[in-house]
Amino acid sequence: MQRKLIIGVILDAGRAQDQILTAFDSLGLEPSLLRVLREVGYDAATPIQAQSIPNLLDGRDLLGIAQTGTGKTAAFALPVLQHLDPLESASPKRPNALVLAPTRELTVQINTELEKLGAASSLRHGLVIGGVKENPQIRQLAKGVDVLVATPGRLLDLAANGHVDLSHVSILVLDEADRLIDMGFVRDVRRIVAQTPNSRQSLLFSATMPKEVQTLASEILNDPVRVDVSPKQVTVAKIEQRVVHAEMPEKQQVLETLLREPDVERAIVFTRTKHGASRVAKKLVRAGIGADAIHGNKSQNARQRALQNFRDGETWVLVATDIAARGLDIEGVSHVVNFELPHEPESYVHRIGRTGRAGAEGMAWSLVADDEAKRLTAIERLTKERLAVWTCEGSDLAEVSPASAMPAGDPKGDRKGGRNRRSRGRGSSGEGQTPERSNQRRSGQSRSSQGNDNGDSSGGAGGTGGRRSRSRRRNRSAGNTQPA
Ligand code: ADP
Ligand code: MG
Repeated sequence: MQRKLIIGVILDAGRAQDQILTAFDSLGLEPSLLRVLREVGYDAATPIQAQSIPNLLDGRDLLGIAQTGTGKTAAFALPVLQHLDPLESASPKRPNALVLAPTRELTVQINTELEKLGAASSLRHGLVIGGVKENPQIRQLAKGVDVLVATPGRLLDLAANGHVDLSHVSILVLDEADRLIDMGFVRDVRRIVAQTPNSRQSLLFSATMPKEVQTLASEILNDPVRVDVSPKQVTVAKIEQRVVHAEMPEKQQVLETLLREPDVERAIVFTRTKHGASRVAKKLVRAGIGADAIHGNKSQNARQRALQNFRDGETWVLVATDIAARGLDIEGVSHVVNFELPHEPESYVHRIGRTGRAGAEGMAWSLVADDEAKRLTAIERLTKERLAVWTCEGSDLAEVSPASAMPAGDPKGDRKGGRNRRSRGRGSSGEGQTPERSNQRRSGQSRSSQGNDNGDSSGGAGGTGGRRSRSRRRNRSAGNTQPA
């Protein structure tokens, strides 16, 4: 018995069925942009777009409070495109618009959206991000870029060396300001803003409004319009949530069992640390599961490759830290697994929101050790739901207690008795069943060949589970049939 939990989460405003959408042609956009919107299939404006675009076209500053997936990029990109188009093209090194975002992935996504929406315009846009060679960026800036999308560190470096001049920036966008601050960029952001003219139009978007963001907003924005589309206008996604009690040493094995369940199409696994992400991914690969890690210590190219492989279905498990996964818009994620629970209960909601997007149903598993009980309580208090408890013994998953709405005034409930639950799981064990099924599925064409690719580089470290050895053997022998 599996009750579906309904949680208000974020996401996929554009594609959501149940949002109040506004016609784009009522917002003051030019016909050429309206045409592009029709071509790319944006039938109607999302709430943040509907509320921001007319104000931005009026030249107002804007404070936008909105979660990931609400369509912020087009909310600022469309006015930027419309504003800048009639202006003279950027002179070398002097962008007219600057968009700052916290991670390289986000800048790439913004650039892609600009590309898409700017199809009918002659504006040039460019990327300045760390972790890749400077020279191509320097050359691009020298040719002239109208809209520059950047992460703060590299931009400051290039500015300090005279490769970019921010004194002509007439529109400044800070995207995901709370993350910029979390990631320690606040001083860099201030230094960048100081290099732009006071007469600029400024936009700041943030999913949350802690004090630091309010302070930054008050420094940067001039009499801003405030648009708040969270959390009431959020999409309701159907995400089934389950908890498995597992101590740290058991977690990897449990994770592998979960991932081999037949309904796992594509999964994101969250770890708390970058090292954790690498370690977990490496072990998955060794177990024949096509996985890759994405986190801030990886080179830009490695991260883009990992993302692309995941999008293309080359790998089907992405192991990520919260920051690396922030804002990623990936379709078809059937499962999210929390290898550890996050410290902040809000992060849990963000994480599980990676699945169940666009009205699809998703599944979120959390591996919870005894010392994470407090975090689980905090999450259940925030979501006002009690998560279903499952056990995992070997490869046998069993439900212990179903999910339930939490009675008001009893946020903690009575959730003890992990040991009991375990023994129940053991009692109902049907060893052999699940592995058979999973192995069959996992030997499917594309995935087992992916396993080979990864397996080749992993060397054969000793696993314990018979199932793991089986799949490794299978991968090996399959690998032998392939040309080297
Ligand atoms: P955010 O920056 O708020 O996280 P994005 O701007 O990246 O969100 O948009 C999320 C997804 O929704 C993207 O895939 C984007 O192409 C799509 N999208 C945005 N606006 C619309 C719209 N009006 N109609 C349909 N899809 C949209
Ligand atoms: Mg965004």
